[in-house]
Amino acid sequence: MENTLVYACRTKDREVLERCSSGGMFTAISDVFLDRGDAVLCAHYNYEEHRTEFALALNKEQRDASSGSMYMQAYALDSWKEALAWLKANPDHNLLFTGLGCQAAGFLQYMKMNGMSDRIFTVDIICHGAPSPMIWAQYARSLEKGGKLSDLNFRNKKTGWSKSVGTVRISGEEISISKYRKVYSDRHTIRQSCFSCPYTRMDRETDLTIGDFWHMEKSMPDFVDEMGTSLVLIHTERGREFFDTIKEKLEWRESNTTDCWQLNLQEPTKPSESRDKFWSDYRKHGIEYVMDHYGVVPVWRKVGRKIKGLLK
Ligand SMILES: Cc1cc2nc3c(=O)[nH]c(=O)nc-3n(C[C@H](O)[C@H](O)[C@H](O)COP(=O)(O)OP(=O)(O)OC[C@H]3O[C@@H](n4cnc5c(N)ncnc54)[C@H](O)[C@@H]3O)c2cc1C
Repeated sequence: MENTLVYACRTKDREVLERCSSGGMFTAISDVFLDRGDAVLCAHYNYEEHRTEFALALNKEQRDASSGSMYMQAYALDSWKEALAWLKANPDHNLLFTGLGCQAAGFLQYMKMNGMSDRIFTVDIICHGAPSPMIWAQYARSLEKGGKLSDLNFRNKKTGWSKSVGTVRISGEEISISKYRKVYSDRHTIRQSCFSCPYTRMDRETDLTIGDFWHMEKSMPDFVDEMGTSLVLIHTERGREFFDTIKEKLEWRESNTTDCWQLNLQEPTKPSESRDKFWSDYRKHGIEYVMDHYGVVPVWRKVGRKIKGLLK
């Protein structure tokens, strides 16, 4: 397709909108495939290993376990081979793949090599960078000193989508994981390869790209919803036809490549200036030390922000 089509959308299903990370496009898209008896390959959280892993979802219950952004690099394990075996065993069905740009490109290449690219529909996710899975696993284990970890939610919308907070439950009690989110958003834990990511561009080889539609209060203020809105980029004719079939399940607006702009649609994230110090401190002092030192906003900065706010 010559030009990328751009939409702001969210699911009309409020229950899904509340539990997903942006506008619920992953669920809206995957519903179509699951209703046809197709398979979905997507990332799930493994609470035993404390890592994210790709696995096939063959029904909505399995798919729902994949809802929400998990801020760590996911493991492919044997899932690609399993997806190929599933396609061979189910010649009348297709498969939806969702994952980050690098994972989608790899999966697409693997399916091309195996003559299956016509039977897969690929959706990639806009990415700020994938953080080290080791750092998350160690942090999760340090939290588990207080009891069993459950209900991981990196984007809990109880305070709204734009002010979402990270939470888990430890022995049933909700606690914040804001330290982990801060070291990620401050770019200390992002993997080295992400700083030269070739997939941070508007045009991509996938059928669709999904992400958050930020800054809508400027471009379409009457469409803002505090529970979140997805950005959808359509790259292929197949993607356009598919989008037409799900429009009725969505609230949507047409947009353009200027209004939806965000950094990672143009260039990779840059490493933080103190990334080397972070890793050196981690090696010397361990996970709890770096979370306490890099994951908390210093008091002087909080005071500075308050004063700035009062002077506005
Ligand atoms: C590491 C990471 C960085 C992101 N950075 C940005 C960004 O900079 N800008 C932006 O607009 N959006 C970013 N997103 C995407 C955004 O947060 C939402 O995940 C996305 O818009 C889908 O939301 P949804 O409401 O449609 O569905 P949800 O139900 O929230 O979707 C979950 C989908 O994300 C997949 N997923 C979750 N975690 C991972 C993972 N670790 N690896 C691979 N797939 C995963 C699931 O398999 C599922 O397909 C990022 C997501 C991740 C995981």
